[in-house]
Amino acid sequence: MAKKRPTRKVRVGFRQNRQARRRTDDWTRQYHAAEEELEDTARTESVRAKGALSRKRTILVDDRNLPIVDETHWLRGTVTRVYGLICAVNDAHGQAWECTVRRILRTLLIESRAPVSVGDHVWLSDQRKAHDGQPVGVIERVAERVTRLSRRDRRKREHTIVANAEQFLAVVSVAEPRLRPHLADRYIVAALKGELRPILCFNKMDLLDDDGAVELDDERQSGLSVVNVIQEFRDLGYQCLCTSALTRVGLDELRAALRNRITVIAGQSGVGKSSLINALQPGLDLATRAVSNDTQKGKHTTSLAELLPLDFGGFVVDTPGIRAFDLWSIDPGELEAYFVEMIPYVAKCRFGDCSHRHEEACAVIAAVKAGEISERRYFSYLKMFEDV
Ligand code: GDP
Ligand code: ZN
Repeated sequence: MAKKRPTRKVRVGFRQNRQARRRTDDWTRQYHAAEEELEDTARTESVRAKGALSRKRTILVDDRNLPIVDETHWLRGTVTRVYGLICAVNDAHGQAWECTVRRILRTLLIESRAPVSVGDHVWLSDQRKAHDGQPVGVIERVAERVTRLSRRDRRKREHTIVANAEQFLAVVSVAEPRLRPHLADRYIVAALKGELRPILCFNKMDLLDDDGAVELDDERQSGLSVVNVIQEFRDLGYQCLCTSALTRVGLDELRAALRNRITVIAGQSGVGKSSLINALQPGLDLATRAVSNDTQKGKHTTSLAELLPLDFGGFVVDTPGIRAFDLWSIDPGELEAYFVEMIPYVAKCRFGDCSHRHEEACAVIAAVKAGEISERRYFSYLKMFEDV
């Protein structure tokens, strides 16, 4: 028998949903009507009508302040899109549902400052009977988030763009455009800052000629080849995939890396992200590829991000917001923590706030001189330090 979670009763006050009344969208209004009806019959809620202005009700909640799970009547799913008050949810069998969020849950979530986001794992109740068999549901409960990619708006409020993403696939090309290792370093930092596991995907391997020269950002270095750079990332412990969307090299490894996970995809335009995804699953196009800057704004208001379901299990996240990886505002001082090879040395620097650029008795600089830290990665750190 499942361990019983502690439950308690809470009184929840409802906000007047004036906006919903004013909506002209019939479709949305229809959902509201259905939701309203259901609320009154839900077994865990008892209504005490005290007039429209002060509506309160008592519900059973657990230690997370969320309605207790009804395992027999609810289905598990993952939110793939959020537009207004409607969420698109994919259940475990790949069935897509259009869901509203139970009003009582919305109230609880707003109080805990966590509305439903793309990537949230949810419990939904099947409302097909009330909707002529259409796959319509109501989100009854949201699972605790494991990770959260967020962005701060101008008023410093945090918005979760994607919940529960596990890994970050940074696609770079080895030719056309030439590999810029510094960009790969930046993606790794962005991933680690977002608490995601970085995976590097070196695409267009079919275009790699013998020497496979790379484009370096610092004149002090030369003579590095694509092969050297990939080996360097592997030595640091990062998973590196070598692919070609054209000749289909490395696609099995890519599929295995994506299977059953939520993966955020990043990469400059033209490196082959869409081609790779399409090669894995024909018809699955990264929708925002052709979206111009103007229309991206419009897209943000409907959904900050979209989860694209993979037919072999898992989701990829498509979001213009995440591709622009200025997303994680990083303080220069925390940068050293994202350069894994520097970590053993930073405690040995003479100054506690050493930036490892020009300080005396810097253990990191000494390690670079001794060949224990790669010059290329160190120069990359310096460049990033300047930029943040
Ligand atoms: P995205 O902007 O990152 O989504 O890049 P696209 O998928 O649109 O690809 C950009 C261009 O690179 C297209 O002309 C593709 O045909 C080409 N391309 C993509 N992957 C490969 C590859 O592995 N090898 C070669 N030779 N060309 C590729
Ligand atoms: Zn130092």
